Amino acid sequence: MEEQIEDIFVRVRQEGRTFLMEHESKAALERLGIRTTGSEVARSEQEAVDIFRSFGGPVVLKILSPEVVHKSDLGGVRLNLKTEGEVRRAYQEMAASFMGTPIAGVSVQEMARPGIEVIIGVAQDPTFGPVLMFGLGGVLVEVLKEVSFRSLPISEADALEMIREVKGSALLQGYRGHSADIPALQSLLLQISQMVEENPEIRELDLNPVFLYPQGYAVADARIILGERRPQPQKAVVSQDLRGLFYPQSVAVIGASGTPGKLGWNVFANLVRHKFPGKLYPINPRAEEIQGLKAYKRIGDVPETVDVAIILVSASMTPEVVQECCDSGVRYIIVESAGFAELGEKGKQIEEQMMSIAEKHGARLLGPNCSGIINTHCHMVQSIGIVDTLCKGNIGLVSQAGVCAAGMLWGLRRIMDFGIIATIGNKLDINETDMLEAISQDENIEVICMYLESVKAGRRFIDVARGITRQKPIVVLKSGRTEAGKKAVASHTASLAGIDQIFSAVFRQSGIVRARDYEHMFNLARALSKQPLPQKDGVFIITYAGSLGVIAADAITDNGLRLSELEPDGKARLLQLLPEYVGGTNPVDYTFSQNPEVVKKTIEIGVESEDVGSFIVILQAEILGSYAETLKGIDYRGKPIIACVAGKEFAMEDVIKMEKAGIPVLATPEEVADALAVMFRHAQRVKREA
Ligand code: ADP
Ligand code: MG
Repeated sequence: MEEQIEDIFVRVRQEGRTFLMEHESKAALERLGIRTTGSEVARSEQEAVDIFRSFGGPVVLKILSPEVVHKSDLGGVRLNLKTEGEVRRAYQEMAASFMGTPIAGVSVQEMARPGIEVIIGVAQDPTFGPVLMFGLGGVLVEVLKEVSFRSLPISEADALEMIREVKGSALLQGYRGHSADIPALQSLLLQISQMVEENPEIRELDLNPVFLYPQGYAVADARIILGERRPQPQKAVVSQDLRGLFYPQSVAVIGASGTPGKLGWNVFANLVRHKFPGKLYPINPRAEEIQGLKAYKRIGDVPETVDVAIILVSASMTPEVVQECCDSGVRYIIVESAGFAELGEKGKQIEEQMMSIAEKHGARLLGPNCSGIINTHCHMVQSIGIVDTLCKGNIGLVSQAGVCAAGMLWGLRRIMDFGIIATIGNKLDINETDMLEAISQDENIEVICMYLESVKAGRRFIDVARGITRQKPIVVLKSGRTEAGKKAVASHTASLAGIDQIFSAVFRQSGIVRARDYEHMFNLARALSKQPLPQKDGVFIITYAGSLGVIAADAITDNGLRLSELEPDGKARLLQLLPEYVGGTNPVDYTFSQNPEVVKKTIEIGVESEDVGSFIVILQAEILGSYAETLKGIDYRGKPIIACVAGKEFAMEDVIKMEKAGIPVLATPEEVADALAVMFRHAQRVKREA
C-alpha cells in the first residue's frame, strides 16, 4: 500500500529531519492528486539509465541530499538529458562533485515542456499563522517581488484574486502563444491550502517552479519543511458580550481628581460635562467631594455594584485596585493609566498580575494605557483629554492609541459624528477583534474605522472582519509599515507588528479597506457615513472648471468607475440648461456661471437617468456657502453625491456647512473618485454576499 502523507512525515522525522527532499515532497503532493514531473530515486548510474529508458523522453537529474536545499546553486540539477550517454555522464559528474555530502540518491524525472513559470509557497506569519504566496517568474521572483499573499485557508474567490492581483498576471491570459490554465492553477492553490489546513505540521512549502500550460500544469520542484505538530492555535472563541461596557448604568473613576489639569480631573469632568445619565462615583481617598459629587475612599465603599470602573492610579498600584474592583463585583475595568508593558519587563509583570486577577473573577479588562470609551448615544465620554460637545453619529472608531482617537476630535467633530470611539491601548484582555465585533453589533454604528499598530488575534480578526464587511464597511489605518515605524511601535504599545504586505493581503481578503493615512481614513468614513452606496459604476460629473472635470474623469476611470451616459431626453433637457459656449454632457461644465440652482436642476436630470450611479460636484470655494441649503434639499433617490472643492482648507466655515448638510467635501477629484470607488466596491460585496 502507498504511504500516506502522514507516514511520509513520520518517516522523515524518525530520521531526525524536518526538511523533506524533493522526492519526498513530490510524493506527498502526488498523494493529493497534484501533478508533478515526478522524482524517481536512482542509487546507481545503472538505475538512473534504467529509469531514463522507461520514460522514453528527455529527463532531468537532481541531487537528493538532506543537506542540499538549493540544488542548482551547487550544480545539483542537470536538465534535458536526451541520451543514455548524457545521463551516465551527468550522473558521474554529480556523484563526483557531491563526494563527501550525504546523498539519498539522484532524482530522475521527466523534463517538463516549457511553460509559464510560477511559484507557490507557504510561510508562517507571526500574526496570521500560515500564509499562501503566489508569484510569477520562477527564478526571477526574488527580483521582481511580484507576489500576492493570503492567509490560509483560502476560498475559491481568494485563489482567483491572488492570481489576478499579481502585476504581470495578464501574461497568464496569453502572450506570444503562451497561456495558462487558470482554473487548474486556481484549484492547485486551493489544494495546497487544504493540504496545509489538514496537516498543520507543514511549516513552509515551496513549489518553485510550477510550469503552467494552456491545459494543466506541472510542479517541477517541491520542498516542504515541517514544524511543531501543533494543531492550529485556534481555541474556539465565543462571541463576548461587551454591551455593558458601552452602555453602563454606573461608572466609578478611581483616581478622580478635584484639581484641574490632572488626568483624573479630565476624565471625571468629561463624564460630568457630557451629562452621563447613569450614576457617577469619584473614588479618591483624600477627597470628600469631586466636581460636585460625593467622593468615596475606595470602590468597596460605594453603596451599589458599579458596572464600569475606570482606573487612573499609578501602574504599580493597579493590581491592588483591580483586586478591589473585582471584590466589589465590577464586571468591566478600564485601566487608563500608562507605564506597563510599553515600558518593559517590569510593566509586563504588573500586566500579568492584573490579568490573572481579572480572569479569576471573570471581569473584563480594557487597556491599560488607553483613553477609555466614548459613546455619544449614551452621553459617555471617558477620555483622558477634555472633549468638547459631540453629536450622535453612526461612525465607530477602534483605536489602539488614545490620542489618535479622542485627541483628534477637537477638529473632526465639526465635520463628522461618531457613535462610539473605543481605545484599546495595550490590549491586555480586550483586543482589537473583540472591539471590532462588539462595535459592529451596535445598531447605531454603520461605518467602522480602526487605527491599529498590531493585530493580536490574527485568524479570528480575519473571520470576524470578513463577516462584518458583508454588511458594514471597515476602514483600517495600520501603522508600523516601515522598519522605522516598527521600532516606534515596539517602544510605544509593546506589540509586535507583522510583515506589512501580509497585512494588506489579509485586509483585502477580509473586505477591509486599508487607508493610506488619517486624512484618507476620515475622508472615507465621512463619505460612507453620510451618503448611500452607489449601485452603479456610472458617475455624473458637474463642474465649473474644465480641467478639474477632466481630472475627475481620469480619476474615476483609474478607480474602476466610468462616466455615465444620459438617455436622449435627459441630454435634451440638459442642453437647455447649458450655456451656448460649452459642449459635452459629462462632465457638465458650467464654467463660472455655475450656481446652486443650475447644479440642482442638473442633478435632478441625473437622478432620473438609469445610468447614473453617483455624482461628483466640483464647486468653487469662494461661493461654497451658497450651495449647502440647495444641495441638501434635493431628492437624490439613493444616489450618493460628493463635493470636490479645490482650496477647501481656506473655506472651512462653508465646508462645515456642507458637511453638516450631509455632503462630504473632499479636496481633489482623485480623493472623490477613490471614495466613490470604495463605496461602489463595498456595495458590490454586500450584494454578492447577501
Ligand atoms: P533548486 O533546488 O535549485 O530550486 P530546481 O529543481 O528548481 O532546483 O531546478 C532548477 C531549475 O531547473 C528550475 O527552476 C527549472 O527552471 C529547471 N527545472 C527543474 N526541474 C525541471 C524539470 N523537471 N523540467 C524542466 N525544467 C526543470
Ligand atoms: Mg526550485
